[in-house]
Amino acid sequence: MKNPTGQKIGKTGFRIGGGINHVRYDHKTRPAQIDIKCPSCGELAVAQDTTVDGYEFSSDMAPSWRSGGSFFVMCTRCFYRAKKLAYRDLTEPYYQIAGRGEVLWAWNKKHLDMLFEFLSGQSISGHPYEFYQTYVHGDWKKYRESYLKGIQMHLSST
Ligand SMILES: [Zn+2]
Repeated sequence: MKNPTGQKIGKTGFRIGGGINHVRYDHKTRPAQIDIKCPSCGELAVAQDTTVDGYEFSSDMAPSWRSGGSFFVMCTRCFYRAKKLAYRDLTEPYYQIAGRGEVLWAWNKKHLDMLFEFLSGQSISGHPYEFYQTYVHGDWKKYRESYLKGIQMHLSST
């Protein structure tokens, strides 16, 4: 999947934490469901990692990280369907919010909700995406007002 901010983070995901506190955080993870732009119409399409059905997240232990072809993609607006796509075949995140700095983006709606709560100063303790706060970019925090407006507009238009 294309990374909107252009940071070099590897092809398959993001590292969690610094890896010094607990071995669990030395693994990379991504949600099993990723909201992407439909390659056909550009609207919201849902990419589901079928190797981790029933789980919220897919860790780098899951087969989909090494071998391709585990994503089922279904558009919510048009008839686009695709089976057995690899992670690298996914287009780009559906949720991309322009602000005064780097583009803010989210894996899916739950992740976007967490970012909104975090940037608006609410507690995200206990939120299933809490650990992704490690990846909240400096720009997003610095110019939080511009992103919060963008997220609100985006959520009200979908
Ligand atoms: Zn579509």
